[in-house]
Amino acid sequence: MAKDYYEILGVSKNASQDEIKAAFRKLAHQHHPDKSHGNEQKFKEINEAYQVLGNPEKRKQYDQFGHTFEQAQSQGGYSGFNGSQGFSGFADAFRNGNNGQNFEFDLGDIFGDFFGGGSRSRTKTERASRGSDMEMELTIDFRDAIFGAEKEIEFGRNGKCDVCSGSGAEPGSRVIKCSTCKGSGQVVKTMGFGFGFSSVCPECQGVGERYDKVCKKCHATGVVKQKRKLTVKIPAGIENGQSIRLSGEGAVGARGGLAGDLYIHIKVKSHPRFNREGNNIISKEDITFSKAALGGNMDVETIDGRVELKIPEGTQSGTIFKLRTKGVPYLEGHGRGDHLVEVIVRTPSRLSRKQRQILEEFEKE
Ligand SMILES: [Zn+2]
Ligand SMILES: [Zn+2]
Repeated sequence: MAKDYYEILGVSKNASQDEIKAAFRKLAHQHHPDKSHGNEQKFKEINEAYQVLGNPEKRKQYDQFGHTFEQAQSQGGYSGFNGSQGFSGFADAFRNGNNGQNFEFDLGDIFGDFFGGGSRSRTKTERASRGSDMEMELTIDFRDAIFGAEKEIEFGRNGKCDVCSGSGAEPGSRVIKCSTCKGSGQVVKTMGFGFGFSSVCPECQGVGERYDKVCKKCHATGVVKQKRKLTVKIPAGIENGQSIRLSGEGAVGARGGLAGDLYIHIKVKSHPRFNREGNNIISKEDITFSKAALGGNMDVETIDGRVELKIPEGTQSGTIFKLRTKGVPYLEGHGRGDHLVEVIVRTPSRLSRKQRQILEEFEKE
């Protein structure tokens, strides 16, 4: 899911560059992974946000293009824009036709930063891509939805390779210049007639350098399939169809990229006696027609156990009684909804001789 860089740094949309820098410094200091209370995930997020907002040009693009921009960036550097290799391809074509220097300069000027300054200036961190979000369904009992619960889940995901810690390099390997592109990150395919198209080097993916030995376990991707066990806190009051987002529990990105999020979609099992409408619990109770006429006390089943309900004299079938605060807790704060009991007056279908006599007397009254 798209994250708001301003939110991550805790600054307003119209914060000055100085304010952004100050916020970044403070947060980076606070969450640095080397600190005892450090948080690597958070630290990476802060860095990612600052890389964009700390640069006035990139910030302008972010303000304009928002999360589309962020997505383009997170999916492997600026590959979204670099995918339009046509531009550099044209530049090459013109240069090869002895007409190119100015043209390329213009392109660089206009699009330079937009394209991340071209793949030549890309760094390894920019190359790391954010892992994908994942989703799963979790079915819980009616009661757990009311009172909340902790559920253990187990799922498979792309996790960080434990051999290379996500770098994709064999431990102890060195960084060397890519021999395929000679460090430029680009290879030029000649099409003949002086035309050529440059494209991202397939060996180093445009970085210009690579490790001399790749990790054998993850084949340089930095990720391996892993089983993960988690305890999910189900908040009291959650409703069927609502989702819980576990930030950073999705797939881990390639080569040290941030992990995506895990979305857990909640399904609530139905209850044999209770229905739910918003924060109210609804149930039906049968009462005898004599109790309806005379009034009296009766036991009513609620999610909290049995509760005594006072039936007033002359109660009609279909009357709804409210048991206050016996309903569903509000997710966003204190208090609970109510339990609503609809009473159904049952007319007896079989009568004893005595009952019949009494009713006949009653009818004559
Ligand atoms: Zn590895
Ligand atoms: Zn290369």
